[in-house]
Formats: sequence, structure tokens, C-alpha cells
Amino acid sequence: MPELPEVENARRLIADQALGRRIVAVDDADTFVCRPHSPGELRDALTGRMLTAAHRRGKAMWCETSELLGGPPGPGPDLGIHLGMSGRIVVTSPDGEAAEGGDPPGRDAQPRKAEWDRFTLEFADGGRLALFDKRRLGRIVLNPDIDALGPDAAEVTPAQFRALITKGSIAVKARLLDQSKIAGVGNLLADEILWQAKVAPATPVSRLRRTDADRLYRALRSVLASALAAGGGAHTGDVIAARRPGASCPRCGAEMVHGTIGGRSTWWCSREQAARPPVPLTSGKATGLRAR
Ligand SMILES: [Zn+2]
Repeated sequence: MPELPEVENARRLIADQALGRRIVAVDDADTFVCRPHSPGELRDALTGRMLTAAHRRGKAMWCETSELLGGPPGPGPDLGIHLGMSGRIVVTSPDGEAAEGGDPPGRDAQPRKAEWDRFTLEFADGGRLALFDKRRLGRIVLNPDIDALGPDAAEVTPAQFRALITKGSIAVKARLLDQSKIAGVGNLLADEILWQAKVAPATPVSRLRRTDADRLYRALRSVLASALAAGGGAHTGDVIAARRPGASCPRCGAEMVHGTIGGRSTWWCSREQAARPPVPLTSGKATGLRAR
């Protein structure tokens, strides 16, 4: 599933190869992928314009569009693109050479059917941009609501991260997955970050120490940096291959264990990410801690 690194990979492809090319036709006939727009609405909004910039926050991506020649002054609408569970962006050059970005080509790659191009921009130069999405869980929408997302995981500051990660009492894994708090971390990145930081995934965020939060932040930065540098994405993390029954921790050799946390399949090291014992309630002093 595309997480921040895969979406960034698709964004870079658009920024490198699709900007400044005049749109002459739009296939927006897939009313599920293009909901709530009706067929023709995206075509009418985009034909004659160019993509002028490609942005990303978390797993959401959007492109700015140019003024329409002979139309009213000012830029056009933003084109929101969400890759869903397995979407990829395919940009074709004027001579027909295709480049891809997004979820790595896996089982969905072949055979390749034309109807799996769920949304297409045709350029005046003969090339095109398509959302290739066999599972049809991607989404195209004009002027997407980006404000519902928290700060991007690659740009969040240490102070922002500390405040966002520790508020409330939810399991830390579930908090890392909450896109309204920090945007861009999916299931694989979350397991990798928790493993790097040696934090038990079910730890209530209220019990994270300052040092835990800082270790998580450093792990987030380093995991994202290597996933982005490798260009390979979230599945290239050090612990990802050990997310299977019978595997041992690649760092200490202890058994990897599995559970469902935040509704998602979760793997962790039985030794280094063991849950901490409960807070003792027997200090005899008024600590402000209630029993349970
Ligand atoms: Zn270990």
C-alpha cells in the first residue's frame, strides 16, 4: 500500500515530467474514482489548462493548474490525486515512453488492462498522465480538503511531534496511523518506526516518556530518509522481512510476535519491544495517578 515514500515518488514523477504540458482531453468517466464529480465535470474544469506544481501532504497529493487561455484570470482548480491501496501514476512522453511512480509494481502489474487506467489526462504533445489502479481504490477530486490532515511526517518538527504523539491514551501504533495527527505513516512504516525506537506498539501514548517520544521522532526521520533515498518505499525497512510467523528480530534475534493493534496487523520484537509493567500504585504518596 502506498505510504509517504511511494506517494512522494509519484509526486516527483509528476513534478519532473507532467508540468507545463497542455491538457487537451480528460477521461473522467469512472464515477467511483472521481466521486462526487459527475462525468465531464473534471474534463470541463481541466481541459485547456496545464499542471503547474505538484504537492504532497502525507499520502495526499494535489496539483495546481494554470489559468485558462482566453478564460477568466487566475489559476484553475487544484487536482487532488489519492493512490488508494495500490495506485500508480504513469506519465507518458510525447514519443510514447512511459515512466511510473507510486506503489511498486507487484502482482497488480501484469497483465495490464486499459480499463485499469481510472483517470487520464491527455496532453497536446501526444503524451498522457494516468492513474493506474487495478483495485480501483484511488481517488481523483477537485480542490481536496488537505486541512483535515495533520502535518506531513517528513516535515513535522520535534516539538509538534511530541505534542501530537503523546496526547490522550490511545495505543502508540494507532496514533502513528492517525492521519489527522501526523500524515503519511501507514502500517509498514509504523511497525518499522516502533521497532527502530524499541517501543511496544500497544503502549498507551499517555505512558510514553519524553525519551520515548524523542526516540520515536528520530526513528521516524531516519526511516523516512532511507525509504525516500532508496526510492524503494516503505517495504524496504529493516524489520519488514521479519513480519512473518517464525521470524526472528534482525537486531537481537528474539522471536517476532504478532497482534492486531489499531485494527491493523502488527509485528514486534518480543524482547526489545516488550510491554512495560504497569505503573506501580503503591508509592503511598498522592501522585495524581488514579488506580486505573
Ligand atoms: Zn529485537
